[in-house]
Amino acid sequence: MSFFAQVNQMFEAAAAETDHPTGLLQQIRACDNITRFDFPLRRDDGSVDVISGYRAEHSHHKQPTKGGIRYATAVNVDEITALSALMSYKCAIVDVPFGGAKGGVQIDRREYSDAELERITRRYTFELIRKNHIGPGVDVPAPDYGTGSREMAWILDTYNQMTDDQLNGLACVTGKPVGQGGVRGRDEATGRGVFYGIREACSYEDDMKKLGLKTGLDGKSVIVQGLGNVGYHTAKILQEESGAQLVGFAEIEGGIYDPDGMDVDAVVEHREETGSILGFPGAQNIDPTEKTLELECDILVPAALESVITEENADRIQAKIIAEAANGPVTTAADDILQEKGVLIVPDLYLNAGGVTVSYFEWLRNLSHVRHGRMSRRFEERNAERILHAVDELTTEHFDKKLLDDLIERIGFGASEKDLVNSGLEDTMIFAYGEIRDLRNEHDINLRTAAYKNAIDKIAQSYFDLRIFP
Ligand code: NAD
Repeated sequence: MSFFAQVNQMFEAAAAETDHPTGLLQQIRACDNITRFDFPLRRDDGSVDVISGYRAEHSHHKQPTKGGIRYATAVNVDEITALSALMSYKCAIVDVPFGGAKGGVQIDRREYSDAELERITRRYTFELIRKNHIGPGVDVPAPDYGTGSREMAWILDTYNQMTDDQLNGLACVTGKPVGQGGVRGRDEATGRGVFYGIREACSYEDDMKKLGLKTGLDGKSVIVQGLGNVGYHTAKILQEESGAQLVGFAEIEGGIYDPDGMDVDAVVEHREETGSILGFPGAQNIDPTEKTLELECDILVPAALESVITEENADRIQAKIIAEAANGPVTTAADDILQEKGVLIVPDLYLNAGGVTVSYFEWLRNLSHVRHGRMSRRFEERNAERILHAVDELTTEHFDKKLLDDLIERIGFGASEKDLVNSGLEDTMIFAYGEIRDLRNEHDINLRTAAYKNAIDKIAQSYFDLRIFP
């Protein structure tokens, strides 16, 4: 079954839990438009390659539309359409006022030099401009698989060179470097959101009891597939901010497993030095890499590509929780098997929404032309100091100078941009999890169906408010 058909099957299961009119449900599900285009690339050796690019805008119930750009060989119309649909639902779940979109270029980025990747990115952006598929109020790309802040900077520069959007041009793309209008915390945002989502899922005693697990992350064993942007940051934050143990990693070249736990930075360093995660000191090599997903752990975090857990391997998955950091890692057939087995699946359309949430904060920063917290930070700091001095004066026992200085140091600071971004992200992920979990309990459905239902209800409400044009 195609990826988009699978997304639609999951949509249908949730639609059955609503009483919205059939035509409206079909409109919410349909992809508004998808553009496919070929363009030439002059290779460094002077030869010419033809490159295929795509951009889908799934839903315009809110504008602009928003979604990442992926560089991968598997990119095609079906994949980009499915991913754009997930973006619409994701934005609705975390109350980010965008419609869903997705773009892609069908290449294996490892086969191109940096100069070639720059030419591909700039020409792809030029095609988006020509087709009115990019702009702060139109459609706003972001990083996804195979792209990062560097590519986003090239997109921004191309947009600025080619258009006369002098005031708001910075908001044409998110995930930019901080010096180019990017927001602090965007790089790690998806992984941080995944962390908050996993932490929430593990915080409910009755849910953990059903899995035979204790509440909280402390002592839980975790396997992560994909050590790119999302996988690395998820692992790093799990390691630094919870007592979870990273027992397995899977990358393209193979997997490694050590039940005593591994340090993610040491694994990354080892990969940089040797070109592979294999042979990491103390760990067992796993070949082929997919077998890593089947090893013993409490939480499995697929953070690479879609359809890695299928009906073929679902039965052998030992994890009690699957945290879908990637988009679409579990096929519908595998989903049925795993739900039947009682595995708790924290679904992609909720769990990896931290990226688009912080992209929204970046877009707001670009349109307001001021760094978050710039005008209030010093004021907050002074205020906290004033309160501490007032408490000191009002109490009979005076703080000694050292205690007062210590307190000022610990609580007398204003929020930086990163503090504000992380706090907004944490609040968003906690609130959205609560909404989905309540729906799950109320309707006796699983978390994925609840997440879809949450999205469908919110998008339907938008249509009820605005009606259908004309
Ligand atoms: P990335 O390119 O930074 O990293 C992906 C990693 O997966 C790479 O290191 C790659 O080598 C590895 N990989 C590829 N195939 C593999 C395989 N078969 N087994 C093991 N590892 C493999 O990409 P990313 O941005 O981290 O995106 C990963 C997933 O998260 C994608 O599904 C993407 O759509 C989703 N996502 C990303 C963001 C974001 O902000 N970047 C936001 C939401 C969702």
